Amino acid sequence: MEVIVAKTAGFCFGVKRAVEKVYSNTDKEHVYTYGPIIHNEEVVADLEKKGVHVIEEDTDLDIIEKGTVIVRAHGAGREEFERLRNSGLEIEDATCPFVSKIYRIVEEESAAGRTVIIVGNAAHPEVKGIKGWSGEHTYVVGSIEEANNLNISAKKISIVSQTTFNLKKFQEIVEIFEKKGYDIKCLNTICNATEVRQNEARQIASNVDAMIVIGGKNSSNTQKLFEICKEECSNTYYIQTAEDMDFNSIRGMQRIGITAGASTPKKIIEEVQTRCQI
Ligand code: SF4
Repeated sequence: MEVIVAKTAGFCFGVKRAVEKVYSNTDKEHVYTYGPIIHNEEVVADLEKKGVHVIEEDTDLDIIEKGTVIVRAHGAGREEFERLRNSGLEIEDATCPFVSKIYRIVEEESAAGRTVIIVGNAAHPEVKGIKGWSGEHTYVVGSIEEANNLNISAKKISIVSQTTFNLKKFQEIVEIFEKKGYDIKCLNTICNATEVRQNEARQIASNVDAMIVIGGKNSSNTQKLFEICKEECSNTYYIQTAEDMDFNSIRGMQRIGITAGASTPKKIIEEVQTRCQI
């Protein structure tokens, strides 16, 4: 059996940077991450063992007397940053620079009087964070249907994207707004890491008998990778760790492909690869 592992599988630049920042703080007492540092239960559990606790948006910061709070790669909204900075706790910002760049864009576009449309999943922390830096006239659109149904009275709109959004779907959504006759400024803020990973996954999935996509079940970029691979290869599996995979189901196949979302540690990918070959 030939096992092809995507070169772009696993941690991207921003996640690697954020995870390293947390690990480099584990020698301190009272370390917290603002939300799970990444969407991977294994990594979060390992950090918990090292004394790093997760606090949530609704955590009362007054009950935390001292410590360091690390803001995850997905970032946080302007008000959330203010609340953290006013808490007296030490703040380490591990927001991915590609995400911070979108904060600047939506701030500028809003200040210029344009309505902002964020193409992405409204429930995702990254999108909530971006919305938190944007002006009052901001909408989140997550699907073709939502784009069709949204009619805005403003003429000038600027469209940005969640970094992990599917490029093809983003272009389709932009086209819908173009057809509605708005004065559009399209700012494709899809992260290159995501695009490259998606293209490689598509290419591998179209050439294998089965495709394994590894990543947290709440990870939106892994869900998208799964969708893309499933389109190309009906035998596509979505697993979090090697334990979730029934390796008997791929026995006898000739070519297996493996890719993984941005939050998947290398050691999980390697374990899945090894177990495919046993
Ligand atoms: S996918 Fe891109 S934007 Fe998101 S954390 Fe990774 S490098 Fe940053």
